[in-house]
Amino acid sequence: MSELGLIQVYTGNGKGKTTASLGLAFRACGHGFQVLMLQFMKEDQNYGETKAATCLPGFEIKQVGRNKFVNLAEPEAIDIELAQNGWKLAQQAIVSRHYDLVILDEINVAMACGLISTDEVVRFLTGLTDNRTEIVLTGRYAPDAILDIAHLVTEMKDIKHPFAAGAPARKGIDF
Ligand code: ATP
Ligand code: MG
Repeated sequence: MSELGLIQVYTGNGKGKTTASLGLAFRACGHGFQVLMLQFMKEDQNYGETKAATCLPGFEIKQVGRNKFVNLAEPEAIDIELAQNGWKLAQQAIVSRHYDLVILDEINVAMACGLISTDEVVRFLTGLTDNRTEIVLTGRYAPDAILDIAHLVTEMKDIKHPFAAGAPARKGIDF
């Protein structure tokens, strides 16, 4: 019997949410699991993880956004459309049962700024029957309704980050 099928959330304002999910993906691939990471609000092939994933059998990363920052206070129609398409892909991937692990990277932010309906995500996740796919939702501002239904919630807390002292994002560390 599969031991998979829980809902995990990595949220908070500290660094480590996406990289924690990548660590989990790495571990899962080691056991021959099929892993899909959908990256919401992102289109940039210069991320180390998208390059590295091509070397790991069983690990797919798909970016479902565009190469421009989403205005969180006032998202554009195209950002809503792309996030909705990503959410459709996520649902298909989960119900397909093809994947052991599905990571929805930054979906918490997509919900928090209204690109995707939190109610819809909660309805879908709680409506799954006999789910065998481990599902990870990452990103700041995870809505309370998501925390309520999750089995595992980790909050990354910012204590210190070189960005505050003006350091730029670093290749291989931040992207
Ligand atoms: P990572 O991808 O490094 O695990 P993350 O997923 O926790 O980070 P996000 O909220 O997705 O962080 O932010 C993405 C970018 O912002 C990354 O380049 C990350 O290093 C950086 N970042 C994360 N936390 C902080 C912080 N507290 N202050 C400044 N920059 C941060
Ligand atoms: Mg992240």
